[in-house]
Amino acid sequence: MVHEVGLGWEFFAALTAFDEQIAREVAAGGCPRCGGPLHRADYGRKPRGALQGAAAEAFALRHSLCCGREGCRARALPPSLRFLGRRVYVEAVVLLASAVAQLARVPREARAATGVPARTLRRWGAWWRETFPRTSVWFALRATFSPPPPDEAELPRSLLDRFAVDHDVPGGRSKLAAICELAARCLAPMTTQSVPDGSRFVRSVFARSARPPIHAKDGDSA
Ligand SMILES: [Zn+2]
Repeated sequence: MVHEVGLGWEFFAALTAFDEQIAREVAAGGCPRCGGPLHRADYGRKPRGALQGAAAEAFALRHSLCCGREGCRARALPPSLRFLGRRVYVEAVVLLASAVAQLARVPREARAATGVPARTLRRWGAWWRETFPRTSVWFALRATFSPPPPDEAELPRSLLDRFAVDHDVPGGRSKLAAICELAARCLAPMTTQSVPDGSRFVRSVFARSARPPIHAKDGDSA
């Protein structure tokens, strides 16, 4: 599955629309520190998309919010489907390129297939298998799978494979894009601590969204 070609403009446009919606809803909740009004304070980033996500480089705006009350001015960073913390590569690439690297026999092969330096791929691999399994986002996500959950020693490939098995993809859409979008929804709370209980917040935003990505075969595990 991960050998399908990369993610297109439409994929990142959809993620950007979700980011916009999330930012609006975080703003509507007011300043987490003082309850004052949250104003937009978006800023530009220079995201890298490597080979799988080159189209992401057209979507550089990071949504950000700033309290308008004098003396507070607290900043709030809404969860994002495109960015994973401060990494310069977009999240979809941190996910996909890491999965490609797991299938590669030698580092050179992984580098050629992803356009990401081998050292970076190694660092991401360690993050997926050593750090990510200890996060609250993974605890929340793992609980949504019927047992057994994806193998933590094989992340992130085990997660993508499981999404592919558990979910039906609507006709006409790339399965890879649909699965990456679902993963982005699940990982969005990773990107910021600004929203308490981020997993629940992001799920509630998508529950009201007009565009469900893919459907769980048994109930809704997304
Ligand atoms: Zn404030």
